[in-house]
Amino acid sequence: MRSDALLQIVLGAILLSVIGIRLYYMRSMRLPSKGRQGRGVKVSLRFRLGMLCGFALIATALVNPAWMSWSCLPLPLALRWCGAVLGVLAVCLLFWVHHSLGKNFSPQLRIRQEHALCTSGLYQWVRHPMYTILFMLSIAWLVGLANWLVGVFWLTIQTIVIGKRIDREEAELLEHFGDEYRAYMKRTGRFLPRLR
Ligand code: SAH
Repeated sequence: MRSDALLQIVLGAILLSVIGIRLYYMRSMRLPSKGRQGRGVKVSLRFRLGMLCGFALIATALVNPAWMSWSCLPLPLALRWCGAVLGVLAVCLLFWVHHSLGKNFSPQLRIRQEHALCTSGLYQWVRHPMYTILFMLSIAWLVGLANWLVGVFWLTIQTIVIGKRIDREEAELLEHFGDEYRAYMKRTGRFLPRLR
């Protein structure tokens, strides 16, 4: 099998794994939440539409790269494989953080009735490891697919969505967990582990 064909298969497997992990852990969306979540739902609808467009772009670049040849980058195959390795690492980490966060996960911001502060796994060092992993995946698509449109789309959408929600997310967690979250903020970094 040609090396670039194998690369497309690996990237396709990464895409399916990401979708599979997200769908599996979205089961917790049906759990009851505290208070009204009106604003959260609107953010989530835009968020889902953006994700759908992003996944459609990746699928198009994988199934028929010729359709998107106008946005291709002339990257060497070895570098594209580095993108795929980053993607595989991101999938493993995504599974780990979802496993740690468990039923506290929600694509929109929600405090569950039985919300517990997660400080295990990657959360012991970083407050938002899932967002860091989503950036890792965006870079994996950019480099692995060697397509600037896919990469720029994902990097832009992640920056906008995460930038809009992160302060509110921390404010909600602070309000709910109080001093426990304040102490947690002091010992962790936002996206990367805190340098001592
Ligand atoms: N920002 C986190 C989680 C994203 S999922 C990350 O990047 O890993 C979003 C949901 O997770 C929100 O409803 C938020 O209330 C919840 N959440 C975020 N950090 C949490 C933590 N340490 N413990 C429990 N729930 C958390």
